[in-house]
Amino acid sequence: MKIYLDNAATTPVAPEVLEAMLPYFSRKFGNPSSIHQYGREAKAAIEQARKHIAKMLNCAPAEIFFTSGGTESANLVIHGAVYDLGVTRMITSKIEHHCVLHTAESLFRRLRIDCVFLGENGNVDYAHLEKLLSSGEKTLVCLMHANNEIGNITDMDRVGELCKKYKAYFFSDTVQTITHLPFDLQKTPVHFITGSAHKFHGPKGAGFLYMRSDAMLKPMLHGGSQERNLRAGTENLAGIIGLEMAMIIGYALSKKEQPEIKELKNYFFQKLKNELPGIRVNGDFENSLPKILNVSFPPGVQGDYLVQNLDISGIAASAGSACASGSATGSHVLAELNVPEGRSSIRFSFSRYNTKEELDEVVGKLKEMMQQKDSSR
Ligand code: PLP
Repeated sequence: MKIYLDNAATTPVAPEVLEAMLPYFSRKFGNPSSIHQYGREAKAAIEQARKHIAKMLNCAPAEIFFTSGGTESANLVIHGAVYDLGVTRMITSKIEHHCVLHTAESLFRRLRIDCVFLGENGNVDYAHLEKLLSSGEKTLVCLMHANNEIGNITDMDRVGELCKKYKAYFFSDTVQTITHLPFDLQKTPVHFITGSAHKFHGPKGAGFLYMRSDAMLKPMLHGGSQERNLRAGTENLAGIIGLEMAMIIGYALSKKEQPEIKELKNYFFQKLKNELPGIRVNGDFENSLPKILNVSFPPGVQGDYLVQNLDISGIAASAGSACASGSATGSHVLAELNVPEGRSSIRFSFSRYNTKEELDEVVGKLKEMMQQKDSSR
């Protein structure tokens, strides 16, 4: 049996999404910039997708720009904030995704970076954020909505209100929360948010950037006039249709599905705790996305050993973050959380396609592995 518990890294494309995309590889293949029928049909489909996405987020269609996903969108925001909006200081946290941290570091000649304090379990210290904001410099605040490794949720409204008070721009990386949490961009004071279809059962390489009408940026990619001159290059037509459909399905199911996924996570965690003594949560269990559970194991158990052996049994999970895997250094997120030395960690992340039976099997396998390890000492 194959069991996939790495849904924060990427998700399988939903069958309905694939079905919606297929005609755009064959019959409806037109270039949206062409003025003939094929092109007009493609263009109309893209504009329809933009409208639907804007409606789900409660913003104007003109504020949605299609991109290749979270990384490109974050690069656009941070570059644009520096070069177009005159931002000279960024307030962020040490546990942001590398698409934010590395982009900011690449601009070190023009951008000063201040990191907000985090509590022991990784939550933003809002009092410290206000203190940093009060210095009055032209600032972009970059704080992610939910962390991709530990799932902690940041209160976007609270950060947005502080940014409003101190006249700072606010970018929240919402890649992990689109379709998982509701949005109302008329209420939440945020200038930029981002989405990536492959995190919610859509295709890879398709995403969007929301840019509030009073914070429009200039392009990073130059060429044709696609995406109202913001992002040159022939549109990823089938990808955009897949993004739209995945988001429609995601939000249609969200109210019912999120409590079910949370129930899976609670069930799994209780079972892990009962069967494998010494397990601890990384992050804030009470304030985290239902789909992410990051746990550490007692000293002496190697996370890589467990993940590799789970893999041999057909079970996919992640030792740290997928984006950082393959790099020799460990997770920059866990490094900030004071996980005691010697404890290694695994991130399990769930989706609508997981079942309790699968989770029972995973706990059984983990137990077997830990017993084997003990008896081989
Ligand atoms: N931001 C977060 C929080 C993520 O988890 C990821 C992907 O892992 C990204 C950004 C990058 O998104 P993409 O894969 O669309 O470039």
